[in-house]
Amino acid sequence: MQFNQFSQPHQTRPIFQRFYASASGNSSLLVVEHRNGAVDGSTLNALTAAQALGGDITAIVAGGAPETVAKEIAKYNGITKVLVAKNDAYSHNLPETLAPLLVEAQKKLGFSHVFAGHTAFGKNVLPRVAALLDVAAISDITGIEGADTFVRPIYAGNAIATVKSSDSIKIITVRGTAFPAATTAQNDPAHEAAPEADTAALSEWIGEELIKSDRPDLNSAKRVISGGRGMKNGENFQMLYDMADKIGAAVGASRAAVDAGYVDNSLQIGQTGKIVAPELYIAVGISGAIQHLAGMKDSKTIVAINKDAEAPIFQVADYGLVEDLFKAVPELTQKL
Ligand SMILES: Cc1cc2nc3c(=O)[nH]c(=O)nc-3n(C[C@H](O)[C@H](O)[C@H](O)COP(=O)(O)OP(=O)(O)OC[C@H]3O[C@@H](n4cnc5c(N)ncnc54)[C@H](O)[C@@H]3O)c2cc1C
Repeated sequence: MQFNQFSQPHQTRPIFQRFYASASGNSSLLVVEHRNGAVDGSTLNALTAAQALGGDITAIVAGGAPETVAKEIAKYNGITKVLVAKNDAYSHNLPETLAPLLVEAQKKLGFSHVFAGHTAFGKNVLPRVAALLDVAAISDITGIEGADTFVRPIYAGNAIATVKSSDSIKIITVRGTAFPAATTAQNDPAHEAAPEADTAALSEWIGEELIKSDRPDLNSAKRVISGGRGMKNGENFQMLYDMADKIGAAVGASRAAVDAGYVDNSLQIGQTGKIVAPELYIAVGISGAIQHLAGMKDSKTIVAINKDAEAPIFQVADYGLVEDLFKAVPELTQKL
């Protein structure tokens, strides 16, 4: 096997700079996403964004039994207060019930900024909050240039926009890969009950089907191996799982592989899937369409295995192997 080193035109590093507010007056509400009694990693990235802004940061934790999560988030650097909204109506993260709660909190406590991770949860809830407050939602930010000025990718990451908002309240979702996770400190902020809000929503939670996996989580894995249409079918993904097991990697996929039914859509990486930036990304049988690159081009080292030397994935790859994947993957797995 021979690997060729490619140039690295993809390495547009996330923009992250600390904005020192002048006696800022900023006051942020951090919406805490949590699951099974633990804070979701995306919230810790959003917290770093809020810290970069400066000013007070109040975390809000809503749920049927939010106490454990409230205690956990309180430990993080920069949290000045924790609002606890305990109500069974908040147990299932329904945006129809959460949005009025966040609006009430903003109205009573006058936050200048509301932050959440740019996850399915954040994307679901925050635009509603923005609409109810009659302000624009500023989504998927990768940088903060000031209290009203934010950086965000557009056109599937092909252009970077710097947007200035004239709204009095900024409702923001944060791209997790652009901000490091916040760290814990010797923190002991006050806990308060969140303001009461109307929980009589129009929608009702019926049930959910979650894919359970013992593998590393795609969003936080340091190594990711993804398969595309070139894998030919779902059974062949076993080759990628075997390689992933050797190096403790998560497995992802292109949309073509998901649409063809090879794997579940929770594995999809790209513009309409997950955005990842692991230390190592191995793309197997993936052509490198811009919509796929939008989800992985900030990975530190990109390896591509493709039998077509002209495949666009090689333009962003640090290491490229022009080879039939059915020969290359088992050989590589054996050598790892
Ligand atoms: C609005 C919109 C949103 C989209 N969002 C996403 C998204 O989030 N994520 C995403 O991935 N796509 C997305 N797409 C789809 C995207 O445009 C591409 O169609 C898709 O990424 C192609 O997937 P692929 O590379 O697996 O398939 P293909 O483009 O078909 O490439 C398959 C590759 O496998 C190689 N190959 C085949 N057999 C072998 C073999 N035996 N050994 C080695 N190599 C082999 C081929 O040379 C080829 O390069 C989106 C498209 C649109 C319009």
